Amino acid sequence: MNTTLIWIIVFFFGHWYLSLFTQTFFNHRYASHQMFNMSKTWERVFFVLTWAFQGSSYLSPYTYGAMHRQHHMYADQLKDPHSPRHSKNLWHMMWRTKVLYSRMWHEKIKYNPRFIKDLPQWWSFDKFADSWGSRVGWGLVYIAFYVLMISVIGDGSLWFLYFLLPIHFVMGPFHGVIINWFAHKIGYVNYKVKDTSKNLFPVDILMLGEGYHNNHHANGSDPNFGKRWHEVDPVYVVIKVFNKLNIIQLKKK
Ligand SMILES: [Zn+2]
Ligand SMILES: [Zn+2]
Repeated sequence: MNTTLIWIIVFFFGHWYLSLFTQTFFNHRYASHQMFNMSKTWERVFFVLTWAFQGSSYLSPYTYGAMHRQHHMYADQLKDPHSPRHSKNLWHMMWRTKVLYSRMWHEKIKYNPRFIKDLPQWWSFDKFADSWGSRVGWGLVYIAFYVLMISVIGDGSLWFLYFLLPIHFVMGPFHGVIINWFAHKIGYVNYKVKDTSKNLFPVDILMLGEGYHNNHHANGSDPNFGKRWHEVDPVYVVIKVFNKLNIIQLKKK
């Protein structure tokens, strides 16, 4: 295969999976649902990794955590920060989520104490990671890599690969919308719940287990999102390894 193509594929999926891993492991399962504990030092290590891997679309574990708790509490009701039921299309829901996230980040919305209890905080770092300087800086890194690989040392006839760049810029929200829109619209259900959550894929490698969204809505504090024999949750495997290595401590059920 063409070397330029191989490098771009490695870079694209490297960014895809590393960004998604920090989102599901740190923002979602640790910060928002507190499925396991970790020391302050490890917490800071994962703050930095979250910044490095999410890059231009860094999501503050604090703000993400609070907003996501609101989603579980009010799933598909009017107070849900993102529900396909209350948005006319996918873009409208994304924009609504973005506006709410920014307002919560600037604390213009008074947080319900339930939504912020024990959320990880590292304000000085969060401020830096969420700044425009950091976001634009990461954007330039992605552009530089593509320019180098396609136009400088690589195969210029693959110029259309530049169209992948916008996905890199908004990788976090891109993953968010796959779950928050599609996993509330299409798929199958294992559990009768009050909301529209669905399991998007019978085998979810693409979204690292996040696609078993109906299972997750039914068992909000369970670190294993896979429930049936074919529903393998790759991040749960990592969680068990981290637990064995004492990087994290899984909570007893
Ligand atoms: Zn959740
Ligand atoms: Zn949901």
